[in-house]
Amino acid sequence: MALLDGKFAILTGAASARGLGRATAAMFAEHGATVAILDLDAASAEAAAAELGGDHVGLACDVTDKAACERVAADLAGRWGRIDILVNNAGITEPLRIMDVEPANYDAVLDVNLRGTLYMTQAVLPGMRAAGTGSIVNISSVSAQRGGGIFGGPHYAAAKAGILGLTKAVAREVAPDGVRVNAICPGFIATDITAGKLSDAQKAQVLAAIPVGRAGEARDVAGCALFLASDLSAYCTGTELDVNGGSHIH
Ligand code: NAD
Repeated sequence: MALLDGKFAILTGAASARGLGRATAAMFAEHGATVAILDLDAASAEAAAAELGGDHVGLACDVTDKAACERVAADLAGRWGRIDILVNNAGITEPLRIMDVEPANYDAVLDVNLRGTLYMTQAVLPGMRAAGTGSIVNISSVSAQRGGGIFGGPHYAAAKAGILGLTKAVAREVAPDGVRVNAICPGFIATDITAGKLSDAQKAQVLAAIPVGRAGEARDVAGCALFLASDLSAYCTGTELDVNGGSHIH
């Protein structure tokens, strides 16, 4: 039996063609789930869902907008009857140094990564609690654990560290209700999040520090999300799963 047969999953920020959310949505679908791909732009979310075929859904949802998160969660719960899995994947980053982080940079990066994770979690939790089951997977980063050092600035490391704290506190609170909450900490994964701003020299330096000897691929993260979303990880909650090719062993 497929690992997610009959399950309904929401993935935020999942329209990006080479992104972690899109690869995770595809793997969840391969394993029997019906998925909702959320992203800023409705057309790209719909196109990403259509590419998967079947009954998958694409919807616009800016995760920094609490009302939008609630609306989308209610819409999907209405269509599906329940929501089993949430992957809080939407994120942005910026390569700034500490003195260059302006209020607008702080707001943008903290809001999408951390506030968005809070809002979407709050939107799905009442239904999961009522059902007595659910799995939430939050995408943090190795930057949270080792203090940046790849691309994102200190505000990004802080946002991703905030996600770890949120993950653990919510995991503790909702475990008695049958809901699990875990985090994934990817290392350097080849996606478009760096928007071509990582120079070849920087890339070579990052790659040289990865014992496995290659950048991660989106599917490497998707496989870990599949494990955390499925019942294989039934006794895991409040954990942080490293997917970094050995670049941060601790
Ligand atoms: P990506 O840029 O390919 O995808 C991010 C997606 O989030 C985009 O589709 C974007 O439109 C969407 N998004 C941005 N703001 C949003 C908002 N307000 N509401 C909804 N969606 C929004 O990036 P990716 O590399 O696939 O990153 C996915 C997640 O993984 C992010 O949280 C990122 O911080 C994290 N991460 C990535 C890496 C890496 O090396 N690629 C490493 C560690 C963590």
